[in-house]
Amino acid sequence: MKTLNQSDKDYLLSTIRDIKDFPKPGIVFKDITTLLADTRAFNFLMDHLADRYENEDIDFIAGIEARGFIFGAALAAKIGGSFVPIRKPGKLPYTTVSEKYSLEYGVDEVEIHIDAFKCDKKEPRVLLIDDLIATGGTATAAVSLINKAGAKCVEACFLLNLTFLQGDKEIKETTSVYSVLEVD
Ligand code: AMP
Repeated sequence: MKTLNQSDKDYLLSTIRDIKDFPKPGIVFKDITTLLADTRAFNFLMDHLADRYENEDIDFIAGIEARGFIFGAALAAKIGGSFVPIRKPGKLPYTTVSEKYSLEYGVDEVEIHIDAFKCDKKEPRVLLIDDLIATGGTATAAVSLINKAGAKCVEACFLLNLTFLQGDKEIKETTSVYSVLEVD
């Protein structure tokens, strides 16, 4: 499947803004609103993702709240799959399945509608998408959720991977992982 060359990666990375000490001291927040506001960069990214996935027989694209919704919905419209939201607890109105995951302190949870992947296929093929993988907790829980809801996660796709956190290590045991950009 297609990847980007280094100069294309450098270009996309240059459109993402670093915000130091947000939301707390020591964190460098990757602000993708600057990429979204840049028509050329956003189109370039979406064309690349469409190029990579359009012949992969993807039935559903599941986006993680909230920035995964932006890339996921745009990609679904481009390659003709259905978009499915994975949300924080209590946000989805119909019956849900949920998956808890550990944070540094405490637990968090993600939810999906029980019938999210309803279709005439026995094992629908799902692409998971989010803007960034850090520790990998959210995405690993999202893959379990996709399996619980009766579908197969064929790949987990991120715009950015903070490689120094090795968040893709655990998730790689259950699905393939693709990061457009890597940051060390
Ligand atoms: P994690 O579960 O630790 O992999 O965290 C992933 C989620 O947290 C993603 O939905 C990201 O949008 C968000 N996130 C974590 N760290 C950052 C960061 N440094 N910059 C921007 N978003 C982040």
